[in-house]
Amino acid sequence: MAADLRATAAYINLDAIKTNVELFREAVGPAVDVMAVVKADGYGHGAVRVAEVAVGAGATWLGVAVAEEGAVLREAGLTVPILVLGASNRQQAQLGVQWGLDLVISEPESLQWIVDAARPLGAIPRVHLKVDTGMGRLGVAPESVVSEWVPRLTSGEVRWQGLMSHLADSDGPTVDRTKGQLSAFLDLVEALRVQGIDPPPSLHIANSAATLRYPGTHLTMVRVGVGLYGALDIPEAHGLAPAMRVESVVVLVKRVPRGALIGYGGTYRAPHECTIATIPIGYADGYRRAFSNVAEVLIHGRRCAVAGRVSMDQVTVVVPDDVTVSLGDRVVLLGEQGGQSISIRDWAGWADTITYEMLTGISGRVPRIYPSG
Ligand SMILES: *Cc1c(COP(=O)(O)O)cnc(C)c1O
Repeated sequence: MAADLRATAAYINLDAIKTNVELFREAVGPAVDVMAVVKADGYGHGAVRVAEVAVGAGATWLGVAVAEEGAVLREAGLTVPILVLGASNRQQAQLGVQWGLDLVISEPESLQWIVDAARPLGAIPRVHLKVDTGMGRLGVAPESVVSEWVPRLTSGEVRWQGLMSHLADSDGPTVDRTKGQLSAFLDLVEALRVQGIDPPPSLHIANSAATLRYPGTHLTMVRVGVGLYGALDIPEAHGLAPAMRVESVVVLVKRVPRGALIGYGGTYRAPHECTIATIPIGYADGYRRAFSNVAEVLIHGRRCAVAGRVSMDQVTVVVPDDVTVSLGDRVVLLGEQGGQSISIRDWAGWADTITYEMLTGISGRVPRIYPSG
């Protein structure tokens, strides 16, 4: 799709991503690997472009959710280790092995599928055992690792590359849960050593928030997602730069009388004669219906409130009376204009959700543009 066909577009600042990777690299020091997590098309920023920049800036691993995402990176020529973070069914295991991806195991079935997929290829697949230290989602019980898992992982059919876990509350207000999960993980590593078992080379538990908040979680690698995109919503993340800007243009301007009802359901009634501008972005683009009568956009550096319901493809805003607006004027929905700024955190607040959901919700209909330099 030609990027300039639509007035509405997401502009991706790859320099911001580079700077953010460097910041994480510095935070962990030279001995720790940084995995750039580029699942969900790089949290909506374009997985291949983000991966290339991240690797150029010092990331040594890539993380994806499903094997197809890893295949896309391999096809684009990325050769660094890629870990599929999600659980694999038989098809996922096959695709992962075929493309030389590292796979996570949380149960015996997927290990068997991985071994089955590798045998005809004569490959030794690389696996990371995931333990559940308190997230309650994927992962085996820590107590089962020494007795049940080590024999299978050291039998020669697979290469035991990693031991990992995932934190449930690293961006939350309390430290207890994170500390408990980390100590459960470290206890397990210690239990392996006591048994004379070498832990695998990659030990990892930290996501973006933990990397910046809890240096004890760095171990041998950190898995950084949301922070790469400058959308990590904790005070420690203030140095990170937002990487996405969403812009559109005014496609219609009209004066409406006092009492006019705007949009589906007439949920906005003009309190006095006012100017309404229509902008071609809607919930099918990821500009959420929850933004109705709540969100703001920037026109000529001024905040203009969404008036009425956000519809599938359009939104209407009320323009302050001292702003002259014309057809074709630039509208900033996410980002800065004239000293004012709208952040992904604002979006998340308006929709009562988290920045992750906002970024990954910007749909494929919105062209991604990568301004050079
Ligand atoms: C998505 C994901 C991450 C990255 O988390 P962020 O909070 O975005 O940094 C790390 N680990 C796993 C297992 C994930 O699924």
